Amino acid sequence: MIDDSEIFSLTGLEISEGLAQGNFSSEEVTLAFLNRIKEVDQKVHAFLSYDEEDMLEQSRFSDQRRSSSNLLGPLDGVPVGLKDVISAKGQPLTAASKILENYRSPYDATVTVKLKKAGAVVGGRLNLDEFAMGSSTENSAYGPTRNPWNLERVPGGSSGGSSAAVAARETPLTLGSDTGGSIRQPASLCGVVGMKPTYGRVSRYGLAAFASSLDQIGPFSQTVEDAAQLLEVISGHDPLDSTSFPTPVPKFAECLKGKIEPCKLGLPKEFFGPGMDDDVRDSLDQAIQWYEKKGYQMMEISLPTTELSVPVYYVIATAEASSNLARYDGIRYTSRSDLAENAIDVYSKSRGEGFGEEVKRRCILGAYGLSSGYYDAYYLRAQKTRTLIRNDFDKAFAQVDAILTPTSPTPAFKFGEKSDDPISMYLSDIYTISTNLAGLPGISVPCGFSENGLPIGMQLIGPAFAEESLLSIAHDYDRECQFGRKQPNL
Ligand code: GLN
Repeated sequence: MIDDSEIFSLTGLEISEGLAQGNFSSEEVTLAFLNRIKEVDQKVHAFLSYDEEDMLEQSRFSDQRRSSSNLLGPLDGVPVGLKDVISAKGQPLTAASKILENYRSPYDATVTVKLKKAGAVVGGRLNLDEFAMGSSTENSAYGPTRNPWNLERVPGGSSGGSSAAVAARETPLTLGSDTGGSIRQPASLCGVVGMKPTYGRVSRYGLAAFASSLDQIGPFSQTVEDAAQLLEVISGHDPLDSTSFPTPVPKFAECLKGKIEPCKLGLPKEFFGPGMDDDVRDSLDQAIQWYEKKGYQMMEISLPTTELSVPVYYVIATAEASSNLARYDGIRYTSRSDLAENAIDVYSKSRGEGFGEEVKRRCILGAYGLSSGYYDAYYLRAQKTRTLIRNDFDKAFAQVDAILTPTSPTPAFKFGEKSDDPISMYLSDIYTISTNLAGLPGISVPCGFSENGLPIGMQLIGPAFAEESLLSIAHDYDRECQFGRKQPNL
C-alpha cells in the first residue's frame, strides 16, 4: 500500500502518469486526498463540503475503465474540486451565501459535464467570498479560508478555497471563476498557477452568475502544464451559453511540448508605478531578467486607461450583479424568511436575512447605477470607457505578444486588514480587472516569495484566444523555476 504523502504532493500530470504505470489506483489517489483534507482542512477551511462516497465511487469507476482499457482521457481518475458556484448534479451549491444554504444543483454545469466525460473524479465544494464578491474569502457566510503559507493571512479571493486547496495539497486541481481577478489574485497569494481564459472560451452554463459579461471559469494547479490540460478539457463552444465562442479548442497540453521560441513581452508602465510592494517588485524584476536571459525582448508599453479600470468595473459588475441576483427572491432557489407576512416581505426579509453585507452593498450600488436618472452618468459612461480600455490592449498587442505584470500589488494580507475598508479591498484588484473588462486571457504564475515567506505571482496577459502562446510563455518560465511546486508546512 502506497503512503498518502507520496500521492498528495503530485501534480495532475504526475498522478495521471502514476495511474498509467499502475503505481496506484484512482481509488487510492482519491483516498489519499480525502485523508489529506481530514488532516489539514480544519486549519485551512478550503472546503465547504465534500461527498466522500460519491468521489470514491467515481474513482472506482475510473479504475474499472482502466482495467478494461476504456480510458476517457488524461484526467481519468484525477480529482478536481469545484468552487461552490459551479453546479454538480445532486451536490450543494451555496455560493458561500446563507441564502443558498439548502440548495442542491439539479443539473451539471457544462464544465462539470466535460470533466465527468474526461473521467475526472469531480468533488469537493470550495469556499469563496459570497457570490464571488471579494478578494479575501472573508465575505464567506461560512467563515474564511486561511492561507496555507501563513494561517493568519487571507488566501485571496474570491476563489480562495480553490487556490488554498491546491496549495495545501488537498486536491491536485480545482476550478474557480474570475470576474475581476478571482482566479489570478488568489493563485498569486497562495503560490499556485491560476488562469482566466478568454471570455467565451469556457461555457458559463451552470455557473452561479455574478457579472455575466465578465465571468469566466478557469483552472488552478501547481504547474502551467496542468492548467493547460485542465483548460483543454473544460473549453469549447456550448449551445447552452450564447456567449461561448464557436472557435475550435487547440490542444493546449500538446502545444507546450515543442520548443518554445522567445517573443516580445510588454511591461505596462502604469502597472509598475507606486503602490507595489518591494518584495513583489523584486520577484518581478527577477522574472523579467529570467525572460531576458532566455532571449525574450522586453518593451515598455502604456495602458493609459488602467486607472479607470477599478471604477469602471465597480459600475458594470455591480449593475450586472444587481440584475443577476434578483433571482434569489425567497421563492425560487432560496430559503424563505420565517418572518414574512406578505409578498413584499418574502422578497425583502428573505434577501435581507440571506445576503451578507458586501452582496447587499453591490446590489444597491448596481441598482443605483442602472436607475433611470443615473444610467447615462454611470452605466453608459462605464461601458464607453470599457471600450477605451479594450482599445488600449489592442494597441499594445500590435507591438508585443504578451504583457507581463504583477498579479497583485502585495503578497497575502492579514485578516481584517482591508475588510473594514471596501475601497482598499477593491484596489487590490487593480492589476487583474482590466483583463476581464477587455475579455482577455490572463494567467498568474508563481514567481517567488517575500522576505517573510509569502508567495508572489506574476501575471501574463495575452490577446483574445491566444491561450496557446500565453501558456507557452508561462510554461517556459514555470518548467524551470517551479515555484508552484514548493509546499507549505501544515
Ligand atoms: N475582487 C473582485 C470583486 O470583488 C473580483 C471578484 C471576482 O473576480 N469574482 O468583485
